[in-house]
This record gives sequence, C-alpha cells and structure tokens, in this order.
Amino acid sequence: MAENKRDYYEVLGVDRNADDAALKKAYRVLAKKYHPDMNPGDAEAEKKFKEASEAYAVLSDPEKRRQYDQFGHAAFEQGGPGGFGGFDGFNFSGDMGDIFGDIFGDLFGGGRRRGGSQGPMQGANLRTSVRVTFEEAISGCEKEIELTLKDECTTCHGTGAKPGTSPETCPKCGGRGQVVFTQQSLFGTVQNVQTCPDCHGSGKIIRDKCPNCSGTGYTSSRKKIKVTVPAGIDNGQSIRIREKGEPGANGGPRGDLLVEVVVGRHPIFQRQDMNIYSTVPMTYAQAALGGDIRISTVDGDIVYTVKPGTQTDTKVRFKGKGVPSLRNKNIRGDHYVTLVIQVPTKLNEAAKQALKDFDLATGNSLNQAAAAEKKGDKPKKKGFMDKLKETFEE
Ligand SMILES: [Zn+2]
Ligand SMILES: [Zn+2]
Repeated sequence: MAENKRDYYEVLGVDRNADDAALKKAYRVLAKKYHPDMNPGDAEAEKKFKEASEAYAVLSDPEKRRQYDQFGHAAFEQGGPGGFGGFDGFNFSGDMGDIFGDIFGDLFGGGRRRGGSQGPMQGANLRTSVRVTFEEAISGCEKEIELTLKDECTTCHGTGAKPGTSPETCPKCGGRGQVVFTQQSLFGTVQNVQTCPDCHGSGKIIRDKCPNCSGTGYTSSRKKIKVTVPAGIDNGQSIRIREKGEPGANGGPRGDLLVEVVVGRHPIFQRQDMNIYSTVPMTYAQAALGGDIRISTVDGDIVYTVKPGTQTDTKVRFKGKGVPSLRNKNIRGDHYVTLVIQVPTKLNEAAKQALKDFDLATGNSLNQAAAAEKKGDKPKKKGFMDKLKETFEE
C-alpha cells in the first residue's frame, strides 16, 4: 500500500528542489545499476529498478511532480477495483522511451524488443473521461459511464478460428512471429529482425475464420461502468479502474480503464490545489461601520461579521473550508475570501445627497471648497485629496 512506499526523492537520492538534469542523472545511475538485463534473476534488483523508474516517471513530469508534492503517493494509487489510481501508471513509454534509448542505446545497440508474443499478455489500457461538477469534485461522487468494451468471443474462445478448427502455426515464421532477413551494407552483411508480415506477429494463421467474430477473437458491446470519483479530485486527474480495458492475450488479464475527470467551472468559487478562492461584495456602509454579510462556502453559507473600517480587498481565511485531501478527506484546504466594496451604479436623489453630505462630513471631496462655499461655510481644513490636487497643480 501507499504507506509502505518510499519517498520518490529518497528513492532517487535527490533533494526536493532537484532540477530535471539532477533527476535524470540520478535515475541514469540507478537504472544502469539495477536494470534486469544487467542482473538476471535478481528479484531485488528488479524491484529497485521498478521503484527508481516509477520515481523518475513521476518527478520528471512537472504536473505529476506537483501532484506528488501535494498529495504524496496517494495522488497515484489507491488500488482495488473502482479505486483511485491516478494517471497512466508507469509504462516505459513516451519520455521514458527516450531516456531508455539514451541510457541503454550504448549497452544494447538500441531497438530492443520487449517480451515475447506467446506468453500471457495484459490487454491494452483504455481511456475515457467523465464530467463532474465543481461540488462533486469536492465531495466525491459515483458516476456511471457507458463505453464499448471488447470481450473474448464465446464461440471461438478468443482463437478467431471456426469451431472445430484451430489456428495453424504460421509457415513463414514458424510460429515465432518474427522473421530474420539479411541485408548487404557498406559494412558487410547485416541481420535484421522484423515482425512477420503474414501473421502480424501472432505466430498463427487462421484458415477458417470464426463466424461470430470474423476471426478477430473478440466481440464488442456497450457496457455501463460505475466510477467512484474520490473527494478532492482535481480537473485532469485520472481514475484507474482495474481490468476494464482491452482483453488480454493468451490468458493474460485485461488492461485498465483510465477515466480522466473533467471538472466544471463554478460561478463563484475558483480552486487552486486544495484551496478555494472567492470574492464577496460588501457595501460602503458595511465596510465603514461593520456589519453581517453572507459568505458562500462549499459547506453552505456562513454569516460573517465585517469589522468597522474594513478596507476593500481585505482577505479573510476560512480554515478547513477548502478541498479535501485525496489521501485523507478529513484534511482540508482553506477558503480565502476577498472582501470588496461594491460601488453603487444606480442611485436615487436621496442617496446621492446622502453620499455628498457624507463626503462633506469626512472631508474627502475634491470639490469640498466649492460645496462648502455653496453652503456658506469655509472649509475648516484641507483634506488629503485637496493637498494632492494642489501638488499636481503647481
Ligand atoms: Zn470468434
Ligand atoms: Zn508468421
């Protein structure tokens, strides 16, 4: 389980601020040391190799690294059917392929073929996506998705051959799935290995195709699958559903289904990792005099008492009202509210007069002198804005 896994930084022996070059260098050393081809039959070395490869796969990907830094191993695996798997596992594909070519090219001459085609092989992973609302991502939910899944053909049991017949060993490759051919080059005779063009690597030729599956060995049907979306999941993260992918070959298990979660926008809340942000208006009077305002959170509305003299853009933190951690839903981020003074745009005459009187009373108006003159008063002292204006007029 996740708890027993070593920290990825510790695995690679780098510090948490290590840059890409440092990661790659550390991984290169470990991968060379523990690669199974260098340590045949050494289970411990293989374990170390996989551990290092997994750590590198995560930390070399900026997004995965961010997730790992935030959620730890829980960001990637909870295991079990319907559990949260996260991302696409640690296949040696994409960038990993690059670094493998890089590291092992000199050792093995490149172009190494992985695995044989005759043993049990796990089916390919399937990808799909599911939409959830902002709230559903916070609280977690159950979703049902429908997709087309392949199943082993019940008529031929996956062989693709008509019942009563069986696939024949491919005569071209002798069942090996590969053909070797020699080429003349500047440097002499070169031997090349290629996938057999007759059987496409399966090593078998079907003479009489199964009528039920047209020789493919599989049938397709629409299936409904339940997806458990864990509380705290973020947009773009994936849930791994074990063995709901493509069927395996030669008795191998099915691949996995990777369900990417697409989180909808919220009209009020924004999310950044485990924290939620929103902006809440207050009136000028509430800001100046204090008062109660209603603030929405994902847990419902809160009545918050604004302190007298609160400035616009004041930030208030509501601890534990943010997004739950995928690791432990009792651990939650915070909700940050920015209080802003709402300036009214439609005012009746009484309100306008009240505001003018207010400015007069507090000495805030640029036109204080003019207003005072009209009222027959002399301004007692100059306000800050008046001084500022004078500065600019000089
Ligand atoms: Zn069939
Ligand atoms: Zn063949």
